[in-house]
Amino acid sequence: MPVRPLVLLPDAKLRLVSAPVGPITQEVRALAADMLATMYDAPGIGLAAIQVGVPTRLVVVDLGRKEEDRDPLVLVDPEIVWSSHETRVHEEGCLSIPEYYEEVERPDRVRVRYRDLDGRTVETEADGMLSTCLQHEIDHLNGILFIDHLSRLKRTRVIKKFEKAAKRETTDA
Ligand code: ZN
Repeated sequence: MPVRPLVLLPDAKLRLVSAPVGPITQEVRALAADMLATMYDAPGIGLAAIQVGVPTRLVVVDLGRKEEDRDPLVLVDPEIVWSSHETRVHEEGCLSIPEYYEEVERPDRVRVRYRDLDGRTVETEADGMLSTCLQHEIDHLNGILFIDHLSRLKRTRVIKKFEKAAKRETTDA
């Protein structure tokens, strides 16, 4: 389960709309395993395939921060089929936008339909941190980042900061 390099802002890949996974092949299982390894290594609580450069609708999530609490969830072709009118505000971060955290308002609860790695269709209702996390990851599949939910001023500022950092890296190399 090799750790794969993360795609970082402002890489244009993050804006791609990912394609459906289709049949669950060995390749899909291997990608899910690599994504979990990459997420645990970072560490983070959720990762979409496009964040390791693969534009396919695959998401991994694990809210267990400690190794003994691990409870990985792999979602194939997840979609939000219902969301609550009530909203909640939660501080979010993203492995593709390191060291940047901001509060985001999203629906409080969502119902998500997906397939597991055995191809079974699962429908689950999430609230709290899991709800925020699933919405954040499913956004990635549609080329949407959590900074898109912030004011234009904040978004522009963080994008500029990462553009500068990327430029510095190219000049240094
Ligand atoms: Zn993210």
